[in-house]
Amino acid sequence: MKKIILLGSTGSIGTQTLDVIRQYSDKLSVLGLCCDKNIDLLYEQIKEFKPQYIAVKYEQKAQQLSDRIGREVWSGDEGILRLASVQCDIVLNSLVGISGLEPTINAINAGNDIALANKETLVAGGDIVMPLARSKGVKILPVDSEHSAIWQCLDFDKSKKISSILLTASGGAFRDFTKEQLENAKSQDALKHPTWNMGNKVTIDSATLVNKGLEIIEAKHLFGVSADQIKVVVHPQSIVHSMISYSDGSVIAQMSYPDMKLPIQLALLYPDRGDFDFSPLSFAGLNLTFTEPDFDRFPCLKLALKCAKLGGVYPIIFNAVNEILVPLYLQNKIKFYDFSYYIERAMAELGGDEAVSSVDIVRHYDSLARNWTSEQLKEN
Ligand code: MG
Repeated sequence: MKKIILLGSTGSIGTQTLDVIRQYSDKLSVLGLCCDKNIDLLYEQIKEFKPQYIAVKYEQKAQQLSDRIGREVWSGDEGILRLASVQCDIVLNSLVGISGLEPTINAINAGNDIALANKETLVAGGDIVMPLARSKGVKILPVDSEHSAIWQCLDFDKSKKISSILLTASGGAFRDFTKEQLENAKSQDALKHPTWNMGNKVTIDSATLVNKGLEIIEAKHLFGVSADQIKVVVHPQSIVHSMISYSDGSVIAQMSYPDMKLPIQLALLYPDRGDFDFSPLSFAGLNLTFTEPDFDRFPCLKLALKCAKLGGVYPIIFNAVNEILVPLYLQNKIKFYDFSYYIERAMAELGGDEAVSSVDIVRHYDSLARNWTSEQLKEN
């Protein structure tokens, strides 16, 4: 029986993870759960999965929940860090944004394998996290569908020598918008994603192609390739979840209907595969198309590629500016091209060649870029 600690149990990945655990209750059990503030849903999850440890980020909500269940509930960032440090088989990290980094580090230090749905962990902290995981003998199991696809194409052997990675992108909700339409595109339109049903942050990130950019950086760290070895391919049907190319020109693809439960169960059941519980892929009538990304309409993707090449502090800056802008775009306080405008300027003004050798450096550049963005927004 594998004991799982689930960070972010009330979000989209969190609830789907619990669906998987429910389905494989003979192999998987819940040791700990945490959320930011949705204690009503967490209460239901506690009743069903009976975790030994519980944490809630917002102190007041933690207290309310604790009163309701008559048990200790850890609270604040400290509570989540403490939960990540409890010994278990796998910590599934589906926290949103940079807040996922330090819990990942704590979990690795405790010797827990990581099922990683929080891509910012590697985007901002990949230079620290990957060597740390290696030194502790901890596995980083991808939960992102593209990275799970690459991992499967490699037959779970990350040491295989590959020529390049073909990272597929649905193109997001604005894939067919003209530049003029994009200038005035509203967040409400972005939230209707054509193929994937996801949380708000990642849905906006998909519409700007920031998500694909973050995934390039994530792939670079996970599979030890250079940015030049990663190519983005727009594939609107989201059936091919990514591909790898070998030096002899052979390409291996992983295909399935889009369903996050597949990458989640692979990460949790590894090295086993689960039983088939998905609609079988029907090839008759399946029309798969592939095109090049349009960097002119989606400049954030170009900026992300540049960050992936430059490495160091640039991905931290890219991510921090984006994290400040997403909630503003959700409230329609900024426009679509403000993302690339501020990200590009922040990279130019705040970037440098300092190596990311500690969490303090990540924290420093993260808050530098956040404060800079807030200042710029005040002036405009
Ligand atoms: Mg993805």
